Amino acid sequence: MSTPASIFKQQAEKKAFDLEHRKRINFNIGKYKTKVIEGKEQFENLELARSRAAFIKRKVVENLDRYLIEWEANFKKNGGKIIWAQDAAEAQTEILAILKKHHVKSIVKSKSMVTEEVKLNDFLTTNGIQSIETDLGEYIQQLDGEPPYHIVTPAMHKSKEDIARLFHEKLGTPIDFTPEQLTQKAREVLRQKYVEAGAGITGANFLLADIGGVHVLENEGNARLSTAFPKVHIVITGIEKILPSVNDLSLFLPLLSTYGTGQKICNYNSVYTGPRKRNEQDGPDEMYVVLLDNGRSDLLEQVPQREALSCIRCGSCLNACPVYKNIGGHTYAKTYSGPIGAVITPFYNGFKNYGHLSYASSLCGNCTEVCPVNIDLHKYLLYNRQKYVAEGLPGRSENLVWYFWEKAMVNRKTMNRGNANLKNLAFSTVFGSTWGKRRSGMKFSGKSFNEEWMQKRPAEINIPSQPPKDKGVSADPPGPKFKVVTPD
Ligand code: SF4
Repeated sequence: MSTPASIFKQQAEKKAFDLEHRKRINFNIGKYKTKVIEGKEQFENLELARSRAAFIKRKVVENLDRYLIEWEANFKKNGGKIIWAQDAAEAQTEILAILKKHHVKSIVKSKSMVTEEVKLNDFLTTNGIQSIETDLGEYIQQLDGEPPYHIVTPAMHKSKEDIARLFHEKLGTPIDFTPEQLTQKAREVLRQKYVEAGAGITGANFLLADIGGVHVLENEGNARLSTAFPKVHIVITGIEKILPSVNDLSLFLPLLSTYGTGQKICNYNSVYTGPRKRNEQDGPDEMYVVLLDNGRSDLLEQVPQREALSCIRCGSCLNACPVYKNIGGHTYAKTYSGPIGAVITPFYNGFKNYGHLSYASSLCGNCTEVCPVNIDLHKYLLYNRQKYVAEGLPGRSENLVWYFWEKAMVNRKTMNRGNANLKNLAFSTVFGSTWGKRRSGMKFSGKSFNEEWMQKRPAEINIPSQPPKDKGVSADPPGPKFKVVTPD
């Protein structure tokens, strides 16, 4: 029977050896890396900026209840309406109720991973409401019937030829259209959609507690159009998106822009504080914010992994991850991919089905190094693995393998048993179809380690009869303890 873990392995294997895919991703990530170097030049002291941002976000995570209440009170003061949604189903139902109340037949939507999380497009379509993505990358993905590939650059895996072909098939444009012509075509199609839409739906990059504001950052101006034309604006966002003050934007906007796309600052930054007031000319008649939990409270309970709620969704850890770069975003099969996805998805969608994602890492620590808010991602992947094992989820066969491995490893006599041919045969029988599929077979030495050691050790080295005293084992991260055994 297929499980999410077995499907993940199959997809990962397929993608990892798709050389065309690898070429495209490396090309796009290469361009990103060059831009990020330029973006970082704006910081006089980048490490200080990262530490400050990390401190602010940790403070928010530790006091989330207090900040949410402050934000709620301030947003309500300005006439905004708030809906707390426990899970995806509740968010869907509430949004549908608002749209029905306002007789909305179509909506325009700016890029939002939370709407992906609650599968809003499919849900609205099933309920007879047209939902149009207005971010160009998201629009391309929607035309192709695919979810976003990356949390910042949704169509990163597509070449310009792929997109020209897609537009040719779906919109009837000439197959040799240039990227500029394709963009112009998308713009023409979308302009009409903004005018027709009864509601605009956006996500939020930050919720500003002191002013009850919703901050949206973008590069195309599509979020502004999505909120300027329609009479109703609905925001859907995770409860963790709080910043204590509007003043914090001076730190977070350059950080997010640089780590997200290599820009000094993104092109459009909007702060929404509620619906249009009586003396104002622009803005929606009604503004709603749906605050989504959907597993975030479970993550908040978890020390230390709760730190992952500090994420500002810059996508930098995805671009740095050797595993992501080889297996691609869709293999993770959930909204959030890469290292941050591997840390949070098991909490959002269950360890039973998604705990295996924590193993999709070489633990090289590159993700931690590039995170603008200093989240110890690779450490939390280890903690997740520990939880996965503690809950007995790896399965009987894996437990058996480790049982026998431990038995063999802690006993020198067992390790020395059997000749090299027997060991080679045993290894290729057990691991031939998995580990050995794309690697040459193991060749065990004809002599055991002990035999080699006894022959080659310098004469002056004495073998101690007692193991050295344990000088203390690092508790960080906690893991299985192994006994130290001296050679016989
Ligand atoms: S974990 Fe850090 S690097 Fe990864 S997306 Fe979040 S903020 Fe960016």
